[in-house]
Amino acid sequence: MRAAAAAIAAHEAELSALDAAIGDGDHGANLRRGFSAVAVTAEQLVADGVQPGPFLVEVGGTLISSVGGAAGPLYGTALRSAGKALSGPAADTAAVGAALRAGLDALCRLGGAQVGDKTMVDAFAPAVGAFQSAADQDLATAALRAAAAAEEGMRATTPLRARKGRASYLGERSIGHQDPGATSTALMFRALAESLT
Ligand code: ADP
Ligand code: MG
Ligand code: MG
Repeated sequence: MRAAAAAIAAHEAELSALDAAIGDGDHGANLRRGFSAVAVTAEQLVADGVQPGPFLVEVGGTLISSVGGAAGPLYGTALRSAGKALSGPAADTAAVGAALRAGLDALCRLGGAQVGDKTMVDAFAPAVGAFQSAADQDLATAALRAAAAAEEGMRATTPLRARKGRASYLGERSIGHQDPGATSTALMFRALAESLT
């Protein structure tokens, strides 16, 4: 969460510029506000010795309540569902992969988006697939593969026409722009990989 908050802060302007092209220009600010709140919550939870599952449930709730835009509830719901799927003080790659899958499933249920709709799902889904394909590897290896898959999915949103979220109001004019939510998802998976290596 520290690494994700730092990555979001460092890329705030870029995320908002991407959103200005096909949305309302607030994606960077929305997430910076949300992850600033998450960073504070997280330090307290760590100090209290909270385990990974309940930790993710809590920080997911913080994101939902601190972000006004669509992305806050979507990411927050994913974190909450991932946390509910994790038990105990430590988790192996398969367990973390299953938690990520639970998070993705909840996000897709809430937002109704599928791969190809030009949303964060286009980065999140391949990342989870790559992570689970590396279930017999260590966490860092799985996270590195997930980050690479998220970045590939992010780049692949550029030629797509948006079918969900504000960008869908633009119809054909959404084509040719990289999706901001797919970009923030790729930043978060890269942050996860870097914090594990
Ligand atoms: P808002 O559109 O409310 O201003 P943000 O700018 O924070 O919210 O987030 C926009 C991003 O949210 C989009 O780039 C897209 O990736 C993602 N998004 C929007 N709607 C959906 C949805 N229904 N399902 C999945 N992702 C979505
Ligand atoms: Mg926006
Ligand atoms: Mg908005």
